[in-house]
Amino acid sequence: MSDSSFDCVSCGACCFSRNPRYLSLLPWDAGRSLPADSLFSEQGQTFVKFECGHCVHLDLSNGKAACGIYEDRPEACRAFRAGSFECVKARRANGIMGERVRLVAA
Ligand code: SF4
Ligand code: SF4
Repeated sequence: MSDSSFDCVSCGACCFSRNPRYLSLLPWDAGRSLPADSLFSEQGQTFVKFECGHCVHLDLSNGKAACGIYEDRPEACRAFRAGSFECVKARRANGIMGERVRLVAA
């Protein structure tokens, strides 16, 4: 995405959620190397763990929001397009760097 206002490593909003079951794996994720200790299963569905309001793979060091498993990130993350309707919705709901989720969690 050429629009710098949708620079994902300066945002990370879609990697935040108050819902611990926000990110579920899909059939296409079966061949991906996702760390087993970052996953949990409930009623036949597998989810990526969220802690402190964000995905456990989100690296917030150095003032950036980087995916720690970018090459192996789940299908749902791959389908999430910067600048899309869902992206704008996540930024409104969670805030840049998840500031709205973090305020609630604090
Ligand atoms: S909310 Fe949009 S701009 Fe922010 S990280 Fe997600 S896709 Fe990128
Ligand atoms: S796997 Fe990566 S892109 Fe997907 S929610 Fe977690 S940190 Fe974000």
